[in-house]
Amino acid sequence: MEKCEIVGCEKEAVRSVSKRAVEEALPDLEFEGEGKRARLCRDHYKLYKRETKEKRKIERLDW
Ligand SMILES: [Zn+2]
Repeated sequence: MEKCEIVGCEKEAVRSVSKRAVEEALPDLEFEGEGKRARLCRDHYKLYKRETKEKRKIERLDW
């Protein structure tokens, strides 16, 4: 199985997303390995989705 690339996480990766997008959404997290894409487990992917959603909401309010 492919492992989640977040440091300290041993769960199975379910999604591959742009590392830069994850860094913007979750700046506190560190990745293992190099490359443009990051494999995330379900939990981290959920976290990422939630953060991007909240960010979009804030941007919309600024308009
Ligand atoms: Zn993970």
